[in-house]
Amino acid sequence: MQTTLSEPGTATGKYGRLKNYINGGFTAITSGRSLPVISPLDGSLLAEMPCSSAADLDAAVAAAQAAFPAWSRTPIKERVQVFFRYKNLLEQNLTALAALVSEENGKTRGEAVAEIEKCIELTEFATSLLQLIAGEVLEVSKGVECRTERMAVGVVASIVPFNFPAMVPNWTIPNALALGNCMIIKPSEKVPLSVGRIALLLQEAGLPEGVFNIVNGDSQTVQAICDHPGIEAISFVGSTKVAKLVYQRATHQLKRCLALGGAKNHLLVLPDAQPEMTAQNVAASMSGCAGQRCMAASAMVAVGNVDDIIQRICAAARRIIPGQNLGAVIDEAAKVRIEKYITEAEQQGAKILVDGRGYKVPGKEHGTYVGPTVIDHVRPDMAVATEEIFGPVISIMRVDTLDEAIAIENASPYGNAASVFTQNGAFARYVIDRASAGMVGVNVGVPVPREPFSFGGWNESKFGVGDITGKSSIEFWTRLKKSTVKWNPEAGINWMS
Ligand code: NAD
Repeated sequence: MQTTLSEPGTATGKYGRLKNYINGGFTAITSGRSLPVISPLDGSLLAEMPCSSAADLDAAVAAAQAAFPAWSRTPIKERVQVFFRYKNLLEQNLTALAALVSEENGKTRGEAVAEIEKCIELTEFATSLLQLIAGEVLEVSKGVECRTERMAVGVVASIVPFNFPAMVPNWTIPNALALGNCMIIKPSEKVPLSVGRIALLLQEAGLPEGVFNIVNGDSQTVQAICDHPGIEAISFVGSTKVAKLVYQRATHQLKRCLALGGAKNHLLVLPDAQPEMTAQNVAASMSGCAGQRCMAASAMVAVGNVDDIIQRICAAARRIIPGQNLGAVIDEAAKVRIEKYITEAEQQGAKILVDGRGYKVPGKEHGTYVGPTVIDHVRPDMAVATEEIFGPVISIMRVDTLDEAIAIENASPYGNAASVFTQNGAFARYVIDRASAGMVGVNVGVPVPREPFSFGGWNESKFGVGDITGKSSIEFWTRLKKSTVKWNPEAGINWMS
């Protein structure tokens, strides 16, 4: 076994041919099929990522199964020590990790730094799990005690998307492992590098061999994970189309599954909203991470006359420059898809107020950039109003009443986030009560709940019970054991014991 991310000298790109991480070391992938990893920043080839074979997955599952008995029986107080050290290592390696995230995903350095800071916060939460999972005990009849304990589930899998190469993996890694599980993670084939670096930090933090394993691959590997009899539970984060496939396939195999899907998030802007704050929030929400956030504002419903705010949004959007304070979208296919949505909306009568199509960053002509785009007078039946675009685009619909705005939000099959911008507490509460979304914001453009609050949407943005982070994730990563105990012979016997 070698301790490098890749096989030096044998491959293409800056990082060479990637390996899996199994049983505490990097191991060569045995299949003949591989995919290129390309930096969206400039189109350069970063690595060659071989897709794992069934035998590669078997090896990872075997390593995790072998590690599980000792790790799951290690007291949680000891397990979380690994994550105190891991948190420190994330802090020490923040700059290098952020650079790698930016390089493979295309987001700006500042956004990548924020992503690693969020990894640190997620890990902080995991170190507090021992305070949260203490069970209950009660003398249920004379000399007889019942107690509950949270036990690990076993070997679990985490399947992750491209848009947060470090943060989404860290939604699952610290909590699942601190709670005693052993994990196989399948990174996105578009951004497989950061997870390899995370494995090295976990190793340095003292995580025992086999507790954390990486299996690289694409949809075929995901299918093999769903079908593998040695895997007990699967968390998935990605598009709704694939979330449905994974949820159905995993639960068909009688596995526990939590599958987070895509989103179409609505911002409801009322005429009494604070103009500049609202404009800044809308512009930042639709363009941050090049619009490739499942919490990004994608549709804005203007209630009544908010023309002044729309003008300010356009002014803010014009100050967001690709290659400077706006990163790249993930690949050429994404750029083509996003620009097609804009063109179709224009052809259907919508008005493009700020146009990000056809953008080239000087010196990075092979990068895949789309400028911020503001589309006004969008009708609720247009594709830009209903479908997830996943680019720096906001579609503005105009209505006369708050109820009409809520009806548009409620009609979406998704349900990740919704926000209302108003200075009126009663209107805000009205929207919180009626929005069909798992995460709601008031004067907040990206209403991601911070730890210990849990992350998870509703409707077609999430399949399964519970959320993926915070307190609500404890249920998913553990099983409840109930024991009934009698030690005292004088307790006697009655029908209840
Ligand atoms: P994706 O669904 O294409 O891929 C996600 C994972 O599934 C990857 O690891 C990929 O290899 C695998 N995959 C792709 N196609 C598959 C198939 N046919 N069968 C089995 N597995 C397959 O998603 P993406 O493009 O990487 O990420 C963007 C999507 O993720 C967006 O829709 C975004 O909203 C969503 N997302 C959601 C959340 C959330 O919390 N709800 C968070 C981040 C991203």
